[in-house]
Order: sequence, then structure tokens, then C-alpha cells
Amino acid sequence: MDHVVVVGAGLAGVRTVEALRGRGFGGRITLIGQERHRPYDRPPLSKSVLLGEADTSFVDTDLAALDVAFLPGVCAKALREGVVETTEGEIGYDGLVIATGSEPIRLPGDGPQHVLRTLDDAHELRAMLVPGARVAIIGAGWIGAEVATAARRAGCAVTVIEAAGTPLATAVGTEIGARTQRWYEGIDLRLNTMVRSVDEGGVRLVDGEFVEAHVVVTGIGVRPAVEWLADADIDLHNGVVVDEHLRASLPHTVAVGDCAAWWSRRFHTRLRIEHWDTALNAPEVAAATLLGEDTVYDPVPYFWSEQFGHMVQYAGHHPAGERLIYRGDPEGKWSAVWLTADDAIVAVLAVDRPRDLVQGRRIIAAGGRLDAERLVDPDVSLRDC
Ligand code: FAD
Repeated sequence: MDHVVVVGAGLAGVRTVEALRGRGFGGRITLIGQERHRPYDRPPLSKSVLLGEADTSFVDTDLAALDVAFLPGVCAKALREGVVETTEGEIGYDGLVIATGSEPIRLPGDGPQHVLRTLDDAHELRAMLVPGARVAIIGAGWIGAEVATAARRAGCAVTVIEAAGTPLATAVGTEIGARTQRWYEGIDLRLNTMVRSVDEGGVRLVDGEFVEAHVVVTGIGVRPAVEWLADADIDLHNGVVVDEHLRASLPHTVAVGDCAAWWSRRFHTRLRIEHWDTALNAPEVAAATLLGEDTVYDPVPYFWSEQFGHMVQYAGHHPAGERLIYRGDPEGKWSAVWLTADDAIVAVLAVDRPRDLVQGRRIIAAGGRLDAERLVDPDVSLRDC
């Protein structure tokens, strides 16, 4: 293989470049990035950058030392075998990495609608979070909760509008979501509320009510950024379909990060995980696969969120669980563990209890079982359950 093209210069893209070089690949690498920035981490955008504690979050990497031709501001438009068509012309390849991530879903309407995906989005939004500003946030998922945290801290009048009956319902279910509702003190949290459109000056609800706002932020989820592949001869279904080696259906092609729907050997299902840990670690396997090595990507998925002064961490895949068991004080530090009918732990969520997360993740990785009766005692470590 002489020339690998990596499309998407986010974390997954740049980590794949590093992994290729780390594994001794000495051929040419071209990294194509639609944004004008060099690669950066996104989690700080809704935390330290939005809170004004940091201005950037660039990935600590040396593109010159990696000997990669980095093409910022260049967008891939289409793909045929061996050729990526870009806004700057065609680029031939004999190895391809698809790492185009995901993009926010927007709502109908002509009013100004902010999303939070890029560094530029974060700077634009930060400038608008000023004391007294009326901020309407649509969606009480991970991004909505973190934006609400920053807006409340900035002294804004915050309304959060959520279609489900609790925050975080889509991500972790309504039972867990209900426990986070108390964190929204001082925020006008509208649950079971559907938005019709984002209009000039605010948000029109389906029931006709108009919620006035100076700033509207839409945080209702993302979709894999694979539109550029629509006419390519490659399997797409909720992202780029890849096997447990992250190999796509097109020859000499792998996909990683938010855009890849990979087969999980551990959970016997296809997963597409829109979280940082996947973008960080899957590239090792993608690079190995591209170079002809036989490795499998089989992680216990992990993510975290910092909201309303709490560190929320999650590991596993809870749809595989049947019982939910709580530990700790719902008003303070607590965690939740999902078990199967025969007591195997498949997921853990920890609120300000990092030890539960770390131990739970290890036990899930080892395929361990837990004693449900001991589990309810928060003073007994998961390791001893
Ligand atoms: P991306 O980071 O989306 O990078 C893909 C890149 O490809 C982008 O720069 C994009 O512009 C580019 N691209 C797309 N299409 C094309 C094209 N056709 N041609 C060229 N380039 C293209 N995860 C956590 O676990 N914890 C958190 O606390 C957390 N916080 C987050 C906060 C925010 C505000 C956001 C947006 C995400 C957060 N995440 C968090 C998720 C995490 O950042 C993502 O999972 C991760 O960025 C995915 O990396 P990626 O490289 O796959 O995709």
C-alpha cells in the first residue's frame, strides 16, 4: 500500500494517522478535513470552552513529524473505488479511512438556530451567553444539559424544551433521566413538549405557544456524516457498516469514530457510538486492519458528561440488561447497574462515583456477574459484589 487517504480530520482521523505511523506504515498519508482548524477535541467545547475557561482544545499531535499531507478546508464530495472526489479535485488512494464523524440535526424554521459541534460554534455561542439573555435549549440530552449548565452559570434565563418525559431519556432511559431532573433548579424545564419550528425571536411549540428567546440552541442529536457516500458502492445503514475489524464493504477501506456502525462481538449487535473514547481507541484497530493485521475492536463503550456540577460516567450497553439496581443517595452520589436475568453486568452509570465506573467497566469486560443483594449497599465495592 502506497497512499492512504483519511477523510475527516477529527479525533478519529488524526488518531488513525498516528496509529498507521506507529505501526510502521511508511507510505504517503493525506488527511482531508472540511474544517479550517487543525484537529481538536470536541468534549471541551460544551465544557471549558463554553464556560470561558479555555479557548481551544487542539489535539496534541505533530502533523509535520507524522509526515502527513494535511488538507484543511477541503471537503470530500463523492467516492468511487480508488478515488475520492473533493472540492479541490480528485485524490487517488489505495487505502481509505472514513472518519467523517457526525453532524447535528436541525429543526425546521427560519429563525437563528445554534448548534454546538465545532470550535467556531462554541465561540459563537459563548459570546451570546451573557447575563439576562433568554436562552431556549431544545433537547435535554447530553449536549442540551451541558449547554444549560453553562448558560445558567453565565446568568442567562434558561428554558429547556424536551420531547420526552425526562432529561436523557433517549440516552439512558426515563428512569435514570428522572433522577437528573432535580439538577435543573432555576431552569424552566418543559418536558413532554414538542417544537414545531425555530422562528425569529424564539421557538414555536406544537401546541401553538411561542417561547421567546434571544438565543436558540438545538441539541436534539446527530446523524452520521455520510451523505458524501450516497452514490458510492459501500454499505451504509446508520453510518458506514463495518465488521468487527472496522472493515467496510468497499475493498481497502475502514471506518472509525462517530460515522462507523461496527459489529460488537461482546454484545452481539451492531453499535454506532458517538463518543470520544471510541474515536480515541478504535483507530488502532482500523490502522491494523488496513495494514492486513488481524485485530478485533471489542470494547466496553464508555463516555462521560459534566453537567450541573456532576460527573456522569457510563460504560457498557444497557439495552442488553433486564434489571436496574441503584446504589447510593439519589440526592447526592449514586450509581446504577444493569444486570441480565442471570446477573451478568452489562452497563454501569455513575454520578460522582468514579470508582463504581472503573470497577464496573472492568467487570463488564471480564464478563463477570454480581450479587444483586450486595450491590444495593453503596459501601460494598463493586469488586466485592
Ligand atoms: P468528528 O469529531 O465529528 O470529526 C469528523 C471531522 O470530519 C469533522 O471535522 C468534520 O468537519 C469532518 N468531515 C465531515 N464530513 C467531511 C467531508 N465530507 N470531507 C471532509 N471532512 C469532513 N463524548 C464523550 O464521550 N464525552 C463528552 O463529554 C463529549 N462531549 C462532547 C461535546 C460536544 C460539544 C460534542 C460536539 C461532542 C462531544 N462528545 C463527547 C462526542 C465526541 O466528541 C465525538 O464522539 C468525537 O468527536 C467523534 O470523533 P470523530 O473523529 O469520529 O468525528
